[in-house]
Amino acid sequence: MWRDLRPIGRHPDSGGYRRYAWTAADADCRAWFQEQAESRALTYEVDRNGNQWAWLGDPAAGNAVVTGSHLDSVPDGGAFDGPLGVVSSFAALDELRRRGARFTRPLALVNFGDEEGARFGLACVGSRLTAGHLTVEQAHRLTDGDGITLPRAMEAAGYDPDAIGPDPERLGRIGAFVELHVEQGRALDLSGDRVGIASAIWPHGRWRFDFRGEANHAGTTRLVDRRDPMLPYAETVLAARREARLAGAVATFGKISVEPNGVNAIPSLVRGWLDSRAADQRSLDQVVGGVESAAREYATAHGVDLDVVRESFTPVVEFDHALRDELARLLGLESGRENGRDTGLKVPVLGTGAGHDAGILSGSIPTAMLFVRNPTGVSHSPAEYAAEDDCVAGVLALADVLEGLACT
Ligand SMILES: [Zn+2]
Repeated sequence: MWRDLRPIGRHPDSGGYRRYAWTAADADCRAWFQEQAESRALTYEVDRNGNQWAWLGDPAAGNAVVTGSHLDSVPDGGAFDGPLGVVSSFAALDELRRRGARFTRPLALVNFGDEEGARFGLACVGSRLTAGHLTVEQAHRLTDGDGITLPRAMEAAGYDPDAIGPDPERLGRIGAFVELHVEQGRALDLSGDRVGIASAIWPHGRWRFDFRGEANHAGTTRLVDRRDPMLPYAETVLAARREARLAGAVATFGKISVEPNGVNAIPSLVRGWLDSRAADQRSLDQVVGGVESAAREYATAHGVDLDVVRESFTPVVEFDHALRDELARLLGLESGRENGRDTGLKVPVLGTGAGHDAGILSGSIPTAMLFVRNPTGVSHSPAEYAAEDDCVAGVLALADVLEGLACT
């Protein structure tokens, strides 16, 4: 399966993947999914939001166990983020058939559309629509960098954009969703485990910091006469690092815009975007509050005005505890600590700072996630990696979980 997927959407220069929603590369990935489903005699269907499903057993029977992930990528993404979960789903089914497993619940394999949001700027469009977290009107307004709207893009790919919308009936048939994913950090590498279970997706958000000063000549304006917003901005970047370190969280200024943006001009405006994520709400509040109060202090010292706007926020997602404990029981892995606290589970249980379809769906159905070790800790880059042995361990773990949940 890796061999088939390897060339699809791979950029020859960067070596990274560019599998954006509703493009030719996406269509090739989707054709591959359909082929895999049909070659295993599964019932293939596409739902109203363009997510692909492959069913073993009667979808209408209810209480289905579903596994899968996504096949799209970020710009110049790696091979594993998404595809590892989809490939492992098919491989786990093959393993269960090899074991002669007898299914007592319907099983479905899924490829959620447009998970990364690389094209339209919003992540998890397929699962958000299904769960009703994104309205049809909002979805219809999504536009890519070339001015093509989501409806036009779907239409060009052969799908009906007027059909999209919430799908409670479909979610009502699902008893559990388990998403396997390459770890996007080094927790498993550091603990020496191949596979872990997710506890929660950290609360995260984006804040815009506007520092307004006064544009002036870089050569003729004396230092004491300047109101240079770059200076408090620079100090704020350092404060973000300090606050994140103190709280055991992460904080990043990764995007900045400067006006007038001239080499020989003191800026009038420096606008920086803070992305911050932490294990719990209190830590996140501590980081963002600390960064903001430091920024105000620096701005005042430099005679610069500051506005801080929260642009987006996602609260903590706690995965279903009963399902998580069931996975832990089925896998019987060792260790059992989460962020330094004993969880009482005999498994490595990890929080994550990254969003997933499983996080979106956790508000509607019991969901759980398995992580596979990524020795580089890197993701969203061609350096993303999982060793073959670890991928196999992930498949076997997923097969054990599916067998425990869906078989006699
Ligand atoms: Zn992913």
